[in-house]
Amino acid sequence: MDNCPTLGQETLYVRLKVINTIAALQMLLKPVKSAAQKIALVPTMGALHKGHISLLKLAQQKADVVVCSIFVNPTQFTDPKDLEKYPRPLEHDIRMLEEAGCDVVFMPAVAEMYPEPETWHIDLGPAEFLLEGAFRKGHYQGVTQIVKKLFDAVDPDIACFGQKDFQQILMIRQMVAHFGMQLEILSCPIIREEDGLAMSSRNIHLSPADRKHALVLSRALNYVQENFSTAAIDELLSDARAMITATPGVDLDYFTIANGETLQPVADKSAPDLVALVAAKVGETRLIDNILLP
Ligand code: AMP
Repeated sequence: MDNCPTLGQETLYVRLKVINTIAALQMLLKPVKSAAQKIALVPTMGALHKGHISLLKLAQQKADVVVCSIFVNPTQFTDPKDLEKYPRPLEHDIRMLEEAGCDVVFMPAVAEMYPEPETWHIDLGPAEFLLEGAFRKGHYQGVTQIVKKLFDAVDPDIACFGQKDFQQILMIRQMVAHFGMQLEILSCPIIREEDGLAMSSRNIHLSPADRKHALVLSRALNYVQENFSTAAIDELLSDARAMITATPGVDLDYFTIANGETLQPVADKSAPDLVALVAAKVGETRLIDNILLP
């Protein structure tokens, strides 16, 4: 599976296997399993950026074979317009995965993952309904449904997720515990643009003005972290919220300092596992971000 030489000026990689069906994926991975090699899965919805690639790099360190999935999962979208306009630059994505040395990209059609309509409901605990769950009803049922299907299809030893979607990792850990699945869930740090904006597939929808205004989210999070030792939680929250609401074109959904396990708001700064989380609509684009405290 070496890189093949050049065609014109361009190097073509033949290492990456592009797979569309669960059957083909399982056939490809069978010898890997038989040889007791480790498989890591990096689930994505595509429109890949350096944040996704950082997950892939961690996966490569931890496993022998890395599978990246690209699937825009309809069941986790609450707004059909958001689903419709979700970016799908497939050629760009495949090129990025080739260049990063990914082994397999799994890109199923919707009918492959959902051959029949199905209902899914599992108990994800009370944190399901907080923060993102309160603004996007049913979102984590959709997320855990597709992640379970991907885990069943790949049967990975390891799966990598970004801390960028902080609540998502908690929900996936709940789902894994619910089914008693045997795999390791790894959380990877948030990759940011140089000016602090958390990388996101949705950032391409930001106009130049939105892009500037969106910086207030990481600025407010940094403000809270920098002043954590000296200011009270109430003060930090009201300052951070005021920074955001004073920014034109930014519509704040929530800014909270919460327990990193339960996501319940916290008033005591000495509590362990604290995280500040924010979500806001910037222009027409909803963004989320967070920072671990202190
Ligand atoms: P998505 O394609 O947006 O569903 O994201 C796929 C995975 O990449 C999820 O585990 C995300 O948390 C992770 N991810 C997205 N953005 C970033 C980022 N800026 N830094 C690190 N991981 C990220």
